[in-house]
Formats: sequence, C-alpha cells, structure tokens
Amino acid sequence: MSLIVQKFGGTSVGSVEKIQHAATRVIQEIQNGHQVVVVVSAMGKTTDDLIRLAAGITDSPNKRDMDMLLTTGEQMTISLLSMALQSKGCSSVSMTGWQAGIQTEAVHSKARITHIETARMKEELEKGKVVVVAGFQGMDENFEITTLGRGGSDTTAVALASALSAQRCDIFTDVDGVYTSDPRFIKGARKLEGISYDEMLELANLGAGVLHPRAVEYAKNHSLPLTVRSSIEEIEGTLIEEESKLEENLVVRGVAFEGDIVRMTVYGLENEVTGISAIFSVLADNHINVDIIIQSRTELNSTNLSFSIKEAELEETRSALLQNKERLGFSKIEHEAGLAKVSIVGSGMVSNPGVAAQMFEVLAEQEIAIKMISTSEIKVSTVVEMDKMIPAAQAVHDSFSLASLQPKPQLTN
Ligand code: ASP
Ligand code: MG
Repeated sequence: MSLIVQKFGGTSVGSVEKIQHAATRVIQEIQNGHQVVVVVSAMGKTTDDLIRLAAGITDSPNKRDMDMLLTTGEQMTISLLSMALQSKGCSSVSMTGWQAGIQTEAVHSKARITHIETARMKEELEKGKVVVVAGFQGMDENFEITTLGRGGSDTTAVALASALSAQRCDIFTDVDGVYTSDPRFIKGARKLEGISYDEMLELANLGAGVLHPRAVEYAKNHSLPLTVRSSIEEIEGTLIEEESKLEENLVVRGVAFEGDIVRMTVYGLENEVTGISAIFSVLADNHINVDIIIQSRTELNSTNLSFSIKEAELEETRSALLQNKERLGFSKIEHEAGLAKVSIVGSGMVSNPGVAAQMFEVLAEQEIAIKMISTSEIKVSTVVEMDKMIPAAQAVHDSFSLASLQPKPQLTN
C-alpha cells in the first residue's frame, strides 16, 4: 500500500471549518487506497500570537521556554484534526513531534532533524489509522523540546515523507502553487506546472514565502517529489522535482523581488589582504546578513567595498563598523537606502548565454539604473531603486514571456 504525506499550513487549518475541510482532503486519499500521514502547522496566526504573549513578559525570553511555548500551537491543531477525522468515521491518532520519533540537534529555535524513529508511526499506519503529526517540532538527545525555525512544518513533512518512503508529499496552502512571480503585483504572473529543486531553492531564498528553504533542500537531497497545491480548490498544483520536464521551454522560470535593501560602501580600505576578511568577521560576529558584495579598486589604488544588507540591520551595521574603524582601517562609510532586489531564476540559464544581457537591456530600456549585480549559475540578481522594483520585475517578466499565453478556460453552463 502506498503512503502519502500531506501537510496543511496555518491558513489551511485556521478555523474549525477549515480543519473540517482538511479532514475531507485526508479522507479522499484514504478512499483512493493510500495510507496517510498528515503534518499540520499551528492554526492561523497562533505562532505569532504566542510570540506576542512572551514579548508581553520579557524582551529576552529563554529559548528553551520559547520552544516549550511555541510547540503548543501545533499541538492544538493535531488534536482538533484528529477529532475531525474521527467524527467523519476515519480512524486516526494525533502525535507530537517527539511521539512521532523526530530527533533533532540540541539547538533551540532552529534545530535540524537528525533522525526519525518511524516504528511507532508504522505501527499505527498498519492498524489502518491516519497519523496526524505536529509540524515544526522535535526532541533532542536529552529529551528537550526543540523547534525547526519559522515555517519549519514544511520540513517536518518532507522529512517524514522521506523517512517513510512516501510516494508523494503534498504541501497544502492558501495559494494554489508556485508562481512565475507574485500575482498580487505582477500582471500575467501564472502558476507553474513544474519547477526544479534548485530553482525552487533560489526562489525560496529570494523571499518567495511559499516553501521553507530547508524543506526544499531536504527534498532535493532525498529526491522526493513535492507538490504545492491549494487546500481550498481541487486543482493541480506545482510539482517540484529534480529536473522539471514540465515547462521545459522556459529559460527563466521565475522573477522574485524584495524591498528594503541598503547598499553600504566602505571607502579607502588600507589593507586589501586582511581588511576584507576583518570587515566580514565583524559583521558575522554581529549576526548581520550580507547579501551582494562588490569590491573595487580606485584609480588612486585604494580599495572600496560595497555590500547590500536589509534596511532593518542598517543601524547595527553602521555602529559595528564605526566602533571598529581604527582596527579595520578604512577612511569612511556611506550608505544608500531605499533600494530593492529584483532577480530572475531559471536552470536554462546554464546553457543559454545572453540571459543576463537581456535582463540588463530590458532595465536600460525602462531607464532603470542597476546599482549592484550578482549572479549564480541559475540566477541573476540586480539591485535597483525601491520605486522601480515592481516596474523592473514587470518588464523582466514580460520580456522573458512568462505571462500566461492563453487565458484560463472559462467554465460555461
Ligand atoms: N507554526 C510555525 C510558524 O508559524 C511553523 C510553520 O507554520 O511551519 O512558523
Ligand atoms: Mg509555511
């Protein structure tokens, strides 16, 4: 008998009605003759509410207590979904992460799964039960409760699917799949039938919130096919697999964008050899995430360094650098705020030269200045002014013909 893992995100279990509906989606697969393991997130905004509760008590909650608190969110959902299944005549058992055998590193708030002891789940599945598992949580070697980082229920689902050799892992969410770009802002953005792990990983890291990057990484490492689909409508979602045979014609598969970027420039670095590493060590020690980095030499033979950061980290970055000015040996720092990153992603870039050139050309035609550029084999990112972000993304989306070629067929009767 084949096994399917289904995962329902927070919005898909956000109310009693939605939990009832999720239960019917589970029962459909049982009726199709599958065994089912269901992974759920906390209902709606429960995790945010719990974080707010803690913040009402202290600015610096103990991480162990925080994990203890946040894992209660998922625990509510497993019990309610299990009740819903049983009230519809479907036999089920709810399990916390630790009852399901999910072992993690001994790290609070962002642990990685190290091993899954599947015996108990298998036993329950053999009895004909649906196993309902709390996402986002596990236990370390010392029986301490841990969590996997925000959005971590996706990772629970993928890890269980791989440990149980599931035939598929379906991620049910409030969008019906992975889109070529954000349809709320980009005209003609449409759902992709398929996308590769690597492309999805780039998009997830570029801020497409639809999947937890670690879940995609896990699926890739275990060659597990993933689908992202709507919990509301019964339509095909997006299939994520090694190499997408679907939509093979697309060189660029997605356009991602994100605002509130700052370009920081360090002028006149005295020591080109040790200066650069010293600067990035200071930033790393202060947990500042640096994205694009550009180093340049001026005519006067001094070294300048520019890098992009999130606007929220601007003050911290400035003070970390200025406090260490003597030791780091630079003449001054300057920053430009109000910037945004617009990126294109597609595996086809590897074998199709000229993709970056086309992107730059389109931006030039729109008279959009490019402040920074970074590339990987399957990605080109540009930094532009914030108010040019959407026009830039739209122009690029149009230029690579990502928009739906035909309108959706209308049902008439
Ligand atoms: N409930 C957790 C969160 O909100 C985990 C998840 O939903 O995946 O981040
Ligand atoms: Mg999520």
